[in-house]
Amino acid sequence: MSTQACAVWGEDFTRYDFGVGHPMSPVRLDLTARLCRELGVFDEVELVDVDVADDDQLATVHDRDYIEAVRAASADPAAADGRWGIGTEDVPAFADMHDSSARVVAGSVECARRVWTGAKEHAVNFTGGLHHAMRDRAAGFCVYNDAAAAIRWLLDNGAKRVAYVDVDVHHGDGVEAAFYDDPRVLTVSVHESGRTLFPGTGWPGDHGGTGAQGSAVNVALPPGVTDGPWLRAITSVAVPLVRAFEPEVLVTQHGCDTHRDDPLAHMALSVDAQRQAAVNLHRLAHETTDGRWLALGGGGYAVASVVPRTWTHLTAIAAHHPVPALTETPPDWRERVRRLSGQEPPERMGDLPEEDLPIWVQPWAMGYNPHSSVDRAIMAAREAVFPFHGLDVWFD
Ligand SMILES: [Zn+2]
Ligand SMILES: [Zn+2]
Repeated sequence: MSTQACAVWGEDFTRYDFGVGHPMSPVRLDLTARLCRELGVFDEVELVDVDVADDDQLATVHDRDYIEAVRAASADPAAADGRWGIGTEDVPAFADMHDSSARVVAGSVECARRVWTGAKEHAVNFTGGLHHAMRDRAAGFCVYNDAAAAIRWLLDNGAKRVAYVDVDVHHGDGVEAAFYDDPRVLTVSVHESGRTLFPGTGWPGDHGGTGAQGSAVNVALPPGVTDGPWLRAITSVAVPLVRAFEPEVLVTQHGCDTHRDDPLAHMALSVDAQRQAAVNLHRLAHETTDGRWLALGGGGYAVASVVPRTWTHLTAIAAHHPVPALTETPPDWRERVRRLSGQEPPERMGDLPEEDLPIWVQPWAMGYNPHSSVDRAIMAAREAVFPFHGLDVWFD
């Protein structure tokens, strides 16, 4: 089949499962794949299933001792003592932990390979975006950092500049840390401030290490941010920086825990705004990287009502067959939502009524409002890094 995009999927991805009661239920991936299939989105992409990444692949972004510890905890989950961030409340050990985490890495690396070689224009791995994993430590439901591994693969295979934009509600700390001192990688994280949310980092002043100043970007938003202001943060920080950076590949992380229904964070977005962010970042890839775009999933704990819709939109946008927000959800999918989650399924692919679309986003050029806490967060990010890129903090 001749499609310009691919998407990673296989039933084995649902084996990334921390157990009953953990927020990151694999139901979120199952319901996403089902929705993609029933809306015909999977007919418009090449589906890619992968094996487990080998240790050499993992070791491009993780210490060998840590990989061994993950393996040991998988062999004997009860023995994990929390020393490597495993066996904790956030990252309980489970038998399939090494394999299922390494499979996610293989998926994102394969996406990177297909985009870099030109086999595909866009690639989606909504099972990935596990951005909190550190070189030597699991954190925040993340064991291996597939986003960092994909970027590392690109650099190791000739890419000179890669931009990473992370719109998950949490700071993309693991990816930022992996490339903090590397001027070839621009990381931009738009998140709820560490004052009110895990992992408690991601301040505007953290803007890259020696020799890489301006290559790490943090927009620390206050809680309660709504659609328009959130999109304004992306369009007035991430977009001009990616343009100025002139990357060869754009990697994006689409954690959808910014939604108003998400149980772990405190933002107030709709699925429509998350969809719009994907539309904007897709457009940005065509504008800046000749279309080379790798899109990842991430957080999202409203596993039935939000995650499947947002990542189906993401996949459909990458497939160049976007699903209109007013589309009704398929009856068979609704039935599966009721059965797996016990919740009443959403009836449409968006949340907003027709009269509220499209979402109004005030351009930065229309003025900075110092009384707005969102604008102050945007301005703090712009002031911290724009001068390194020759950009003006007041105007675009
Ligand atoms: Zn998150
Ligand atoms: Zn495209």
